[in-house]
This record gives sequence, C-alpha cells and structure tokens, in this order.
Amino acid sequence: MGLCFTHAGYRHLLSRLLEAGYTPAAFADGERLLEKEDRFVLLRHDIDFDLSAALTMARMEAEMGVFSTWFVLLRTEHYNLFSAEGSALIKEILGMGHRLGLHFDCAVYPGAPLEELNAGCGREARVLEDWFGVDAPVVSIHRPPAFVIGNAESLTAPRLHTYLPLFTRRIHYLAESRGMWRYGEPLESAAFLAGKPLHLLIHPIWWGERAATPVQTLYDFIDRRHRHLEASVAANSTVYRTRDS
Ligand SMILES: [Zn+2]
Repeated sequence: MGLCFTHAGYRHLLSRLLEAGYTPAAFADGERLLEKEDRFVLLRHDIDFDLSAALTMARMEAEMGVFSTWFVLLRTEHYNLFSAEGSALIKEILGMGHRLGLHFDCAVYPGAPLEELNAGCGREARVLEDWFGVDAPVVSIHRPPAFVIGNAESLTAPRLHTYLPLFTRRIHYLAESRGMWRYGEPLESAAFLAGKPLHLLIHPIWWGERAATPVQTLYDFIDRRHRHLEASVAANSTVYRTRDS
C-alpha cells in the first residue's frame, strides 16, 4: 500500500503518460491502433463498489483532457444504475467524453452453461446501451473464472471482452488491485519505457484523496451506503420518520 494510490498519484501517472506521448484510446479501436503502431493507452475502470468514487476520477481525467472506459455492473447490490442519482452520475461521466462498457458478473448466473452466460451478457449489454443511449461494444468480466483468462471469446460474442489475448498480451496489460500493482508499476514497465501500447486497469475506489488501507476504504463505503439507504427509507416512510415521536 503506497502513497502513490491517491488522487495526486493518479494525476502524476496520467501526466507521465501524456508527457511520454501516449494517447487515450477506446477498446474498440485497439486492434486498428495496434496495427498502426500508435502509442496509446486503454484506461479501464471496473466499478465494483462505488459510483461516486468513479465520478471523482472521471472529472479528474476530463480536466486533464483524458478519457477512459467505465465498466459497470448491472446486477449488483452495491449501486443502482437506474436510480435517478445513479443514472445522472453515469450521464455526467458520459457527457465528459468517457466510454461505457458492461462489467459482467458470471456469479449471478450460478451453474449456467456458456450459452446461457452469453445470452445473459447480451441482454445486460443491450439494457445498458438502451438505457444510456450509447454503444457498449466491449465487456469486462468481474472476478473472471479461470476459463475466461486469455480465452472464451464466445462468452461475450459478438462483443469483445477485456481478457482476450488482444487486450492482455498483444497490448501490455497492467492491473491494480486493492492498492497494489499486480504485475509491476506502469511507469517502470518495459512496455512504457519502450512506448508500447498499454492497457491499465484502475479501480477508482482504492484511489482516495488520502492513502487508506483497503479495509478502511470498504468500511467507509459501507457507512456511506448505509446512510444513503436510511435517507431513502425515511423519505419513503412516515413510520420510519416518526418512529421516535
Ligand atoms: Zn470487478
């Protein structure tokens, strides 16, 4: 857990990428840009927990002239894309020029065979596209089962997914998880030093204004969600609002 996993650290990472001549790109353009030998970076954010942390980071990027792709869960208890607040937040992110993708969780289809997962993925992606009025041509898989890594094109077809060899081998892939770079620091990687295309996975929740432990970050998130839920229950229930009187 280093101090680098802060907003300031993230701005530093982006500045270094821009100074080195990297251009942000969309996943759907990866293949084409790779063939052109462009110097580009696919900035990917999987939103597992907290939409508001996403908005903060999306604004930071937009201020620096950078866009990224935001992969969102549809079937989660952690946030609601379809609530007034959730939808407004995603629309604000899209309004800054960012892209949207489906973050697909196989675990909410327990025991489903591949064809059923594929059908579920298609349905979720179409709901997302229809609701927000944008294309979502690329899927990121949440906590990918072993068979997905570097394979399983048919899981998300006709959409691409971010664990295909194109995005994990041909384009150099670096992932941050719980405030740690799993395969080394991007700015120290041979790929960055050689100006090769990069795919960076960054989870906004771990990058706060100040450094914090992952557990503390999750406690804070649960507290915020709890207060939010309580405010909504109170707004919808006289019984709750007048419980002590
Ligand atoms: Zn995830």
